[in-house]
Amino acid sequence: MLTIGCHLSSSKGYLHMGKEAVSIGANTFQFFTRNPRGSKAKPIDETDVAAFLEFCREAGIEKILAHAPYTLNPCSKDAHTREFAKITMEDDLKRMEYTPGNCYNFHPGSHTGQGAEEGIRQIAGMLNEILRPEQTTTVLLETMAGKGTEIGRSFEELAAILEQVELKDHMGVCLDTCHVYDAGYDIVRDLDGVLREFDRTVGLSNLKAIHINDSKNPFASHKDRHEKIGEGSLGLETFVNLIRHPLLAGLPFYLETPNELEGYAGEIAMLKERTR
Ligand code: FE
Ligand code: FE
Ligand code: ZN
Repeated sequence: MLTIGCHLSSSKGYLHMGKEAVSIGANTFQFFTRNPRGSKAKPIDETDVAAFLEFCREAGIEKILAHAPYTLNPCSKDAHTREFAKITMEDDLKRMEYTPGNCYNFHPGSHTGQGAEEGIRQIAGMLNEILRPEQTTTVLLETMAGKGTEIGRSFEELAAILEQVELKDHMGVCLDTCHVYDAGYDIVRDLDGVLREFDRTVGLSNLKAIHINDSKNPFASHKDRHEKIGEGSLGLETFVNLIRHPLLAGLPFYLETPNELEGYAGEIAMLKERTR
């Protein structure tokens, strides 16, 4: 069965997100662990979490995906910025254990002039400080478009981070379709080739989630502007091929397209219809 959902606002808590997901035909969802710009997180409401977990059992929601604030930068040249990213992610990982067995995705960061090699070393270093052997959460590196000094613009860079992390079993990758296309991986004309390249570098067994976004910009533009499904440079057929691809069967797909709930419901219905 297809596992599909979209990014939802977490401001009203877990149970609200679960119900909202079901109301738009989703069986999973993504949410920010706190304000996307990285402010202090609300304390976990244990009553809400308990009700949510019960709701998930009834509604058939088997997995959810948390997203770190996108402003965190564990490989900034500024030491305070690096420290803030570490403290925030360490706290997020504690909070994730209230909903055990899920994934936590983050943007690897921008090296801000230090060079990719040093950036990769700092990202892996932070992960080695905050990952715990007993945690049930899998931490995902997101593939990035490569704007500015972003790390994760190539599969090799992500592989290099994974290579340096000690607790590899707690790590994985989330592939973002807009980002990889903007980064210069042609999933429109050569999806098989890109997946082969991913397998050769990162390993397909490390692929844990997919962000499905069309792109406002042309191939290899290194821009990162998401577009509605079928309205950008990737086109609807790309997403149909992706969801139907045998190597990606069973993975959860998350929309991060510029939509309100109604628009998400429409995209989910359209993708289900086209891929069943
Ligand atoms: Fe992201
Ligand atoms: Fe994304
Ligand atoms: Zn993006």
